[in-house]
Amino acid sequence: MKIAILSRNPKLYSTRRLVEAARERGHEVRVLDVLRCYMNITSNRPGVHYKGEDLAGFDAVIPRIGASVTFYGTAVLRQFEMMGTFPLNESVAISRSRDKLRSLQLLSRKGIGLPVTGFAHKPDDIQDLINLVGGAPLVIKLLEGTQGIGVVLAETQKAAESVIEAFMGLNANILVQEFIKEAGGADIRCFIIGDKVVAAMKRQGKEGEFRSNLHRGGSATLIRITPEERSTAIRAAKTMGLNVAGVDLLRSNHGPVVMEVNSSPGLEGIEHATGKDIADMQIAFIEKRLAEHKDGHNLTRTRGKG
Ligand code: ADP
Repeated sequence: MKIAILSRNPKLYSTRRLVEAARERGHEVRVLDVLRCYMNITSNRPGVHYKGEDLAGFDAVIPRIGASVTFYGTAVLRQFEMMGTFPLNESVAISRSRDKLRSLQLLSRKGIGLPVTGFAHKPDDIQDLINLVGGAPLVIKLLEGTQGIGVVLAETQKAAESVIEAFMGLNANILVQEFIKEAGGADIRCFIIGDKVVAAMKRQGKEGEFRSNLHRGGSATLIRITPEERSTAIRAAKTMGLNVAGVDLLRSNHGPVVMEVNSSPGLEGIEHATGKDIADMQIAFIEKRLAEHKDGHNLTRTRGKG
């Protein structure tokens, strides 16, 4: 096969591992900087150009599109899809999962466990918004934040009010959420390929920190998940229409709740914590889907809606 990896930096761990795995399985692979791709949008012959070259003949494309380049990155990916290249994750599924509100609404529609969550832009009745999620302590999130930045724990009603007011003053969209105290500063990352959880790790925030992000000094260990956690993670990825996803769960008193569904889950933390070759599994998945396609199955997955 001829595989393209859309990634801004070939030196990143995940990108390097995918290149290695593809080569080990005997494929030709190229890393393309998505912002350097330019496109020819005509009705008969859609194309992608790169440094003066007309890219053609790729069987599959692996999108590793960073949150800050979602708009342009998904447009390039869509162009590959129009050329008949199999996307490991479809552009529409990536766009869906990058919108936190849209994701939560889709997951709630499917009855998937979520923390009680309210969202708002400029509520007149802040008290009512706070009551909606059961009062303090509660978590307030800036919608645009990543890696735990813009996630605040408000321990008292007064603190909650002032943080909400401050965010309102910034004209930001905010999310107000029940604080899952019983999670104890830990979350579970389930790595999904196809309709399986292929690996899972527990991330624990450092002492005194309720956020478990590895970027914030959290640590990762191997964990055994329950059948309920497994099925929640699989259903969440399926709802988004993602073949490959990192589903983050919290263990709450009312069962597993989904925090986030990540469409470009990193490999470093999970491969080190579990010792599994997840890059290889992704390439094997692409091989399987392309072989099925040759047998007449539909290539892209169209399960996610909305
Ligand atoms: P980001 O997308 O910026 O990483 P998250 O919403 O995933 O932000 O929050 C970061 C971390 O904070 C989560 O991984 C989790 O450990 C913790 N956290 C977030 N929301 C809650 C909550 N409602 N209750 C308890 N812990 C939470």
